[in-house]
Amino acid sequence: MSTSTADDRPESTDREVADGVYRFGTRRINWYVLEADDGLTVVDAGLPAHWPQLGDWLAENGYEFDDVAALVLTHADADHVGFASDLVDRNVPVYCHPDDLPLLRGQPQGAPGWFYRNLWRPGFFVYAVEMIRDGVTAVEPLADAEPLADGDVLPVPGEPRVIFAPGHTRGSCALYVENRDVLFCGDVLATRNIFTGREGDPQLLGSADEDHDEARASLTRLEGLGSVTLLPGHGNPWRGEIDAALSLAR
Ligand SMILES: [Zn+2]
Repeated sequence: MSTSTADDRPESTDREVADGVYRFGTRRINWYVLEADDGLTVVDAGLPAHWPQLGDWLAENGYEFDDVAALVLTHADADHVGFASDLVDRNVPVYCHPDDLPLLRGQPQGAPGWFYRNLWRPGFFVYAVEMIRDGVTAVEPLADAEPLADGDVLPVPGEPRVIFAPGHTRGSCALYVENRDVLFCGDVLATRNIFTGREGDPQLLGSADEDHDEARASLTRLEGLGSVTLLPGHGNPWRGEIDAALSLAR
């Protein structure tokens, strides 16, 4: 099912985007591996066709599937739940905020109204075609997940701290790894406009948000984290002061 081409890979051939953090997926959809002494945490699960990337990388780097200690979902939209069921089949625990359980259980999701309304945009059409090609309609539902709660430091490799930031979805969270200045922000912020395909500054997802006003209000929850490598669900890494990123997004 692997159909990736060179054009689909992130621009950089170097997967390491921060100390012990690796970027996977395509140039349009990201997921990550967080490496620590006690194993690996996968952050988000892309689309089903991305699954071979994980096995290939594990093998190339001397790891096995047993080294994957957890999958943490920033939110449960289909393009982030992708191969989660494959990890569940290998007894990997999956973490997700309870407010996104309806999305997790409701896979594969039907396309929302904004999806159809934006298909005329060339940049979005390419993204839509990629999602269908890479299995967005074949994402398997999960019955349950380990709960994420605001402020939790997760007992998984890398020990990310949960920052609840709803709006894009009801259960959207960012994950902050303080000792590496890394912020996985899911779709709380993107650096790629999913409608135009343009790479750029940190921005809100706009009409793809379930509740855009709430998404905007949630940005205050990220304030004061200082200098970060921002790793979004869509777009290239962004490095700088988080408060500057939030100003750009507002
Ligand atoms: Zn997304």
